[in-house]
Amino acid sequence: MNSVILSNRLKTIASYVPNGKKIADIGSDHALLPNYLVINQIAPFAIAGDVNEGPLQAAKRQVQQYGLTNQISVRKGNGLEVIQENEVDVIIIAGMGGALIVEILEAGKEKLSTIERLILQPNIGEELVRKWLDQNHWQIVDETILEENGKIYEIIIAEPKRINGEDPYLGVERTKEELYRLGPVLWRKRPAILLKKWQQEAKKIDTIIKQLDQISNDKEREEKLEKFITKKNWISGVLKCLLKDKPLSK
Ligand code: SAM
Repeated sequence: MNSVILSNRLKTIASYVPNGKKIADIGSDHALLPNYLVINQIAPFAIAGDVNEGPLQAAKRQVQQYGLTNQISVRKGNGLEVIQENEVDVIIIAGMGGALIVEILEAGKEKLSTIERLILQPNIGEELVRKWLDQNHWQIVDETILEENGKIYEIIIAEPKRINGEDPYLGVERTKEELYRLGPVLWRKRPAILLKKWQQEAKKIDTIIKQLDQISNDKEREEKLEKFITKKNWISGVLKCLLKDKPLSK
């Protein structure tokens, strides 16, 4: 059987799947992750779900090519509707915007009661995902950040909140709203790429501020300027900490 070559991003996501757990990969596209996890005997069973016909057919072809149709079920459907209750232990949703990930989780809430772990990789809007997790009894147990082909990605691992579980939002001198943006675990770990991410965010804000000159309406320009200067000041504070402080102990 041929091995599946994964990008560093997908390989990192795969590394968070505990051995022996059944998985669902929602928005699976070519079903690369399910194929990799089953071929490498990490997952005994996988569901590859996708809402669009093109990716679904691509997934079916890949699964057939690897001869894994007994272990990987390719299903067409919106979000978690492709999963029956108790069918899988771990859900992966990767490569979409945070708002869409939240929409999928919210719409499929009743399917989550038996899920042991969520592995989420929003391309943007990470703060929306963290806020939803926090408000829906999910606890972030790990986070990582990586760079691939010039893009920076964050991966969020969450498990159902436990009574005595460690709260990643506690013991940090930042509000929850700030930590939704920064990532409570990333903020403690402070990997070098986190600094790079926020340096890039600062540059984006600078570009926006320069472009505000083009707004002819004085009131509108001033209001937007104030909003973006507030954001820039916040990011400057973040960068100062990241440059100065060592990782916080966990
Ligand atoms: N998960 C893969 C990855 O991280 O490389 C593929 C990401 S691809 C950019 C996003 C996939 O999500 C597409 O195949 C798209 O059809 C699918 N998708 C978008 N919205 C979806 C939804 N509501 N339910 C299921 N799949 C969806």
